[in-house]
Amino acid sequence: MNQGQHAVVIVGYGGMGSYHAKLIRQADSIRVVGAYDIQTDRQEAAVQDGYRTYDSYTSVLNDTLVDTVLIATPNDVHKDLVIEALKAGKHVICEKPVALSVAQFREMVSIAEQMGQILMVHQNRRWDEDFRTIKQMYDQETIGGLFRIESRVHGANGIPGDWRHLEQYGGGMLLDWGVHLLDQLVFMIDSEITSINGRLSYILGDEVDDGFEATLEFENGVSALVEVGTTNYIPLPRWYVKGTEGTGIIEDWSLNGRVVTRNKDIGRIEPKPIQAGVGLTKTMAPPSEEATITGALPQPFEHESSFYDNYVAVVEGKALPIVQNDEVLRVLNIIEAIFTSARTGQAVRDFDLY
Ligand code: NAD
Repeated sequence: MNQGQHAVVIVGYGGMGSYHAKLIRQADSIRVVGAYDIQTDRQEAAVQDGYRTYDSYTSVLNDTLVDTVLIATPNDVHKDLVIEALKAGKHVICEKPVALSVAQFREMVSIAEQMGQILMVHQNRRWDEDFRTIKQMYDQETIGGLFRIESRVHGANGIPGDWRHLEQYGGGMLLDWGVHLLDQLVFMIDSEITSINGRLSYILGDEVDDGFEATLEFENGVSALVEVGTTNYIPLPRWYVKGTEGTGIIEDWSLNGRVVTRNKDIGRIEPKPIQAGVGLTKTMAPPSEEATITGALPQPFEHESSFYDNYVAVVEGKALPIVQNDEVLRVLNIIEAIFTSARTGQAVRDFDLY
């Protein structure tokens, strides 16, 4: 490695590539030394942001001052660009989804291993505060053992951009937001998955899914629903979780939310019937005020380091990756299972055999 900070070139200087540049500026262990994009306006944007640009991908790979290539291009070219960089002796950070299939990613990992280079996937949403709060609730059982986890992102703008509409670029919402939400589940729930049911939506008439729903059953009894929608003018909460002692909700990215738990200090209070619609119900009457306690969400758990600091420590042999390639592989397995389930209309039960 070069002396001083770890040197990175960003390949694909679009929305995410330029965002990486901004984030890396705040990191101590790593710095951006250049950028490369096939579009001249994006090359110019990189120059305006203060970076040197390269005239070809080969010239990036030939630059001996470069330790790492960070791939932030559309999804379909990740595999080839990653493999070329690894073969040129570079370490690689790759955007999600790292690959379009399990087979592609296996090939990439095997080349990284042969070359003795690090390949780490930017699963940055493991650092999201809303997710870290739910993971804390799961690990610490703050509302009892969680047995139902509903994770949703709802928008109303359709599929954004251009390439995300097309299959050949690896477009669609399952390969976009799905990767993040499934990665969070796999990172949180250390249990085999026993079944997956998936359904894709094509409301906007694109050739790729504009949303999806997937239900995952885990061997430890947890059931999870993951739902992404781009035609939801009224969004449902980001997280809704049920534990054996209560219920938790996180409404939005600003972490508006609460937990409501059973008041263990008082015995069971028989609910009074209420009028509901044209009928009466005792079962669905809200619990009396004394029967429950409404509280704030717990503090989120903290990662030991940022994504970038962890990455550099991994390259230097000082830490294990927070984002491990076998977890990434597992998420790609799940995605393939969701596509299969959506196509066949059947639950997939044997994907963990991969
Ligand atoms: P984008 O279209 O804004 O940018 C992609 C850029 O890559 C474009 O400027 C394009 O010209 C360039 N490009 C295409 N092929 C190239 C090649 N062969 N060599 C060099 N440059 C090339 O797309 P985006 O929204 O920035 O998405 C890029 C990647 O980042 C995708 O894989 C996406 O899934 C991922 N992403 C991740 C997050 C996250 O939070 N982790 C958020 C957004 C996007």
